[in-house]
Amino acid sequence: MLDMTPPGIAERSALTINPAKTCQPIGALYAALGIHECLPHSHGSQGCCAYHRSHLTRHYKEPVMAATSSFTEGTAVFGGGANLRQAIKNIFQIYKPRVVAVHTTCLSETIGDDLSTLIAKAKDDGLIPEGSFVIHTNTPSYVGSHVTGFSNMTRSMVNYFAEPAKQKKGQINVIPGFVEPSDMRHIKMLLNEMGVKAVVFPDTSDVLDAPQTGSHRFYPKGGVTVEALKSTGSSKKTIAMGSFASEAAAQALMVKADVPYDLIDLPIGIAATDRFMQSLMDITGKEPSERILDDRGRLVDMMTDNQQYFYGKKVAVFGDPDHVISMTEFLVSMDMIPIHILTGTPGKRFEQRIREILKDVAPDARVKAAGDLFELHQWIKAEPVDLLMGNTYGKHIARAEDVPFVRFGFPILDRVGHSYFPVVGYRGAMHLMEKILGVLLDRKDRDAAEENFELIM
Ligand code: SF4
Repeated sequence: MLDMTPPGIAERSALTINPAKTCQPIGALYAALGIHECLPHSHGSQGCCAYHRSHLTRHYKEPVMAATSSFTEGTAVFGGGANLRQAIKNIFQIYKPRVVAVHTTCLSETIGDDLSTLIAKAKDDGLIPEGSFVIHTNTPSYVGSHVTGFSNMTRSMVNYFAEPAKQKKGQINVIPGFVEPSDMRHIKMLLNEMGVKAVVFPDTSDVLDAPQTGSHRFYPKGGVTVEALKSTGSSKKTIAMGSFASEAAAQALMVKADVPYDLIDLPIGIAATDRFMQSLMDITGKEPSERILDDRGRLVDMMTDNQQYFYGKKVAVFGDPDHVISMTEFLVSMDMIPIHILTGTPGKRFEQRIREILKDVAPDARVKAAGDLFELHQWIKAEPVDLLMGNTYGKHIARAEDVPFVRFGFPILDRVGHSYFPVVGYRGAMHLMEKILGVLLDRKDRDAAEENFELIM
């Protein structure tokens, strides 16, 4: 399908071909699902909402609920205030959520609807029942990406709910970033193993990976509660995982409630997980359990045993910036050489951080933020790789260039497992390593001459 991509790389400034990102509301909608009993609401046209829901449904293989203000031509002229009021009234009457989390779309941003005022007026007029909440965030999709939308909605959770407290509790906050439900579950498991009391937010575990019980629950049992979100202001520290998805909320908490924060990379790979553990130890004075240490030891063993297969392999990685940063570091720790690194999300910090990681290994690597997959494809044509890692959209490049491909990040539309098996922590690193090794050895098998086709490799 992409066989005709030309090899010559031309500078482009006003044209994106095959974007490596999607729009802000998708991230905001996903973050909102991480609040218990929350109904996300899209303030815009039905078409946007249908696209956002179906994209998330295809990735998580779960029905994703969201309401919409259902803009029409009239709304585009007169504003969406009346639609939002009607929507708030209907939603609380029919679906009875605890929280309605509103995000905007390109259209409502262009019209300029003032959501703070509209929501305050709806509250004054008694449209929001006592004990229930409507929160909002602005997610114009002509800037940023789905990661920005996730970050904005997470920050709104702080702005609307966190209650400042002079007396801090023993608990900490953990903002896990735009990761899978399985990753959030694994982070909670690690905290639990270390005996650390924490509020993890947002938390989509048990929302988008809820077990099949035979009966439908409109609001699954998972998600961070409003009470827990309120208590984030009395935590002694916040750990924010990934600067792109999580720092804005941590910063807001520091400003609003004087809760300091540690900003760390997403704990993907051994070094980033070590730093997460170190941060927990520094904040709480607690030590990792024997089980966690054993997991780390098993990961080191696996890395050592298989180093021969990874050594010197050239890799191209693309996806969300926080994911790609940690993944690049992990690849380097396995003696692989990441040479093409790209994210669709804008942000100078991405390129700086990747250059820092690659300075001794691949100083000439091609690195780009706000790039597109057409350019990545051209890079691969110019300098081929042994492995491509990224979301499902990479499969066309992998096929055109005949490169082994590992699906990693968001969205993964054509495989299952990503929402059930974590990639964070030491166990997550083992899982990732197994996936990488699998495709490399499959390729070795496929290309082996008859006399070299071995049972034991
Ligand atoms: S119009 Fe904007 S918000 Fe709607 S789907 Fe397109 S980019 Fe996303």
